[in-house]
Amino acid sequence: MARSSSADAHGRHLYAYFPGGPTWPPFRRDLKYAITATSAAASIDRSTLSDVFARAFSRWAAATNLRFAETASESDADITIGFYSGSHGDGEPFDGPLGTLAHAFSPTDGRFHLDAAEAWVAGSDVSRSSATGAVDLESVAVHEIGHLLGLGHSSVPDAIMYPTIRTGTRKVELEADDVQGIQSLYGSNPNFKGATPTSPATSSREMDSSAGAGCRPDRVFVGVVAVAAVGLLLLVL
Ligand SMILES: [Zn+2]
Ligand SMILES: [Zn+2]
Repeated sequence: MARSSSADAHGRHLYAYFPGGPTWPPFRRDLKYAITATSAAASIDRSTLSDVFARAFSRWAAATNLRFAETASESDADITIGFYSGSHGDGEPFDGPLGTLAHAFSPTDGRFHLDAAEAWVAGSDVSRSSATGAVDLESVAVHEIGHLLGLGHSSVPDAIMYPTIRTGTRKVELEADDVQGIQSLYGSNPNFKGATPTSPATSSREMDSSAGAGCRPDRVFVGVVAVAAVGLLLLVL
């Protein structure tokens, strides 16, 4: 599909796709993911990692007919997830604490990389973390999976695909805009019980260049920049 963004009846820019609208093709609805590079995140228990990513994928599976399962075999996986430090072979080096948090590639690449240097919180309440710059792994995972499935950034502030998240906060529920975006790509799950309504106070600002001509068509990069002492993290493509 050629469409790269969507607007509602009021002309607001909402969810977006990547240039060219890449998706996983119809014969690939059962996607396997492998958590492959975890040595750099040794502080997080391996079974906790499995639980966190399973929950993150389940958010998207609930709204669509996509199904996700973890596999131990990297060669068998459609999606690979790993923690990396600094330069790690894809030309987009991570930068240590804060700055870039993670990046994911659009369909059907399947690579999802997390910066091992972040203060990741998994399996506990991030709002109670005493770590400086604590980031909720599951929240970032839900966002990045949206990219893995073909969504760009949304300008709806409550959407998972909104390009900003604060440190110490948790945001894992698909919002109506996320649901509309993903269902327009993959169809809906008849058992889906709905999503948080879109806030009527949506801003019309363009938050990123996900649909812009200067964006590389085959990938998205999520940069996270600390902009002030309040711990606001700005994620940009
Ligand atoms: Zn990478
Ligand atoms: Zn993003």
